[in-house]
Amino acid sequence: MSEPIVKYRDVHKSFGDTKVLKGINLDIHPAEKIAVIGPSGSGKTTIIRMLMTLEEPTSGDIIVDGTNLWKMEKNDKMVKANEKHLREVRGDIGMVFQHFNLFPHMTILENCMSAPIHVKKENKNEVRERAIQMLERVGLGDKLENYPSQLSGGQKQRVAMARALVMRPKIMLFDEVTSALDPELVGEVLEVIRDIAKNDDMAMVLVTHEMDFALDIADKVLFLDEGVIAEQGTASEVIEHSSNERLQSFLHRFR
Ligand code: ADP
Repeated sequence: MSEPIVKYRDVHKSFGDTKVLKGINLDIHPAEKIAVIGPSGSGKTTIIRMLMTLEEPTSGDIIVDGTNLWKMEKNDKMVKANEKHLREVRGDIGMVFQHFNLFPHMTILENCMSAPIHVKKENKNEVRERAIQMLERVGLGDKLENYPSQLSGGQKQRVAMARALVMRPKIMLFDEVTSALDPELVGEVLEVIRDIAKNDDMAMVLVTHEMDFALDIADKVLFLDEGVIAEQGTASEVIEHSSNERLQSFLHRFR
């Protein structure tokens, strides 16, 4: 198998006295689709937020494309890699959140063009073309000039995906992207992710409670429980055939 693009090595994270992650080891390979499941509060979001450098680990290494995002100094303080390296790393990673985080004062086309132009300093006309393509891909080609407030939750979430795709990331992170949606809007969002998963060769990490969806698209499923990866394997091994009792009882809630 190819060299991983992301390596977590013995990553720990505490908030105050609360130990949230207790030794995470994880490789993410190019094009790999990973689903992360587990009870609320088990640390799923924290794992992916650290990859975006939105949280720092208490100890351990997170290495993206050879860059260690933090280094432990002699006084046990974690120090971020230099800003230039971090910008490159962040440019390779797209993230879609539970709440869409669109800019309300920009049209959806402008929302999708903003980061490549302002962060990556790309050519405006090329970015516009790519943004239109991506918005068409998520089924919103007829809404380019609309504002976020004019869209449904499912449509906003599809804009958020198009916006991440325009950056051409090597890795896409999805954090419970359907959890805040009305049930009837979940399907259209999962459909877009399924399309990306089946047709793009970027790596994907999805925190999700949609077990059938994970079975359908994930190469690997991680069951996170109380800050450790308690079970991992193919989707079928973890979701259908594991004998881990805590996993069984977690899954039982979705049946
Ligand atoms: P999950 O995504 O599995 O629900 P999270 O990673 O969001 O879990 O949170 C794990 C634990 O860390 C929870 O107990 C949560 O309350 C705590 N936590 C997360 N972020 C913070 C923060 N910024 N400050 C304090 N506690 C936090």
